Amino acid sequence: MATFVRSAFPAAFRTNARCIASIRSQSWGPHTGLKKVKIVEVGPRDGLQNEKNFVQTDVKVNFINKLSKTGLKVIEASSFVNPKLVPQMADGIEVMKRINREPGVDYPVLVPNPKGLQNAVTADVKDIAIFAAASETFSNKNINCTINESLRRFQDVVDMANIHGIAVRGYISCVVGCPYEGDVSPEKVSEIAEKLYKMGCYEISLGDTIGVGTPGSFSKMLRAVKQVIPLERIALHCHDTYGQALANIYSALEDGVRIFDGSVAGLGGCPFAKGATGNVATEDVVYMLHGIGYETGIQLPELIKAGNYISQHLGRPNGSKAAIAMTSKLQLDQDQV
Ligand SMILES: [Zn+2]
Repeated sequence: MATFVRSAFPAAFRTNARCIASIRSQSWGPHTGLKKVKIVEVGPRDGLQNEKNFVQTDVKVNFINKLSKTGLKVIEASSFVNPKLVPQMADGIEVMKRINREPGVDYPVLVPNPKGLQNAVTADVKDIAIFAAASETFSNKNINCTINESLRRFQDVVDMANIHGIAVRGYISCVVGCPYEGDVSPEKVSEIAEKLYKMGCYEISLGDTIGVGTPGSFSKMLRAVKQVIPLERIALHCHDTYGQALANIYSALEDGVRIFDGSVAGLGGCPFAKGATGNVATEDVVYMLHGIGYETGIQLPELIKAGNYISQHLGRPNGSKAAIAMTSKLQLDQDQV
């Protein structure tokens, strides 16, 4: 397929394209004065991608359809990567064609290259995500190229996405720690965040891929990133390996962040980070946010049902503490009727 000449798409055009997408995040900053938080559900992609046994397409479609009924506004549905590298996502196009897309809900798909973007166009995807790392070694192991090479490749993807009116979200992994390099400097993260933002990403999701961060390291990193991109464009993506995810989210809330990624039932992990557990469970995040008084638009009981559904199919207990507690309370209430 033809590659696009970057210079044909000046910066102004890219900025305009981001404006098309900006509606997605314009109401999420603390500047609105509203206690509103946006949750980006990543379970169907980030949560399932490393599952060893193939999850049937029917199950994936049902799972996403159930999530669509919870009030979530963003559900990362799949990934159009090389099926040899991520066999679990080999049915991504079919999943995207078969799900019931609820009006007002975005269904982003992870796209690493122009081929993936072409698939996104074929599958009528309106929103994609690209992913860079804040650590050179992780970038090499995960996507087989240096950080700068990955950014160059992504520019082509973003330019093509712009032509098709597709919005682009940017991920950065290892924002506070790398399984190979240890601590990651906040300056490195802010440098990449700025590049992704200038490239045209409408939102930058800062990922603690191996879950080593604490409110201390997150706060330093956020301080650096806030200097280069607007606060309402920053999302946090926490893993709970060290049990710090909710504390990190709470501390980021205090710092003004209003967009958080989560994965129902705490699904997920990282193949390149031994011992890394799943993403923070969306149910736990929503329970905490509602308890503080934030609006998410999500009906927690429905979210718990979706998490229980996928946990049952994977044959393991739900990884969300709030889900386990509320499910047994519900059963207890029913038993007492
Ligand atoms: Zn994750």
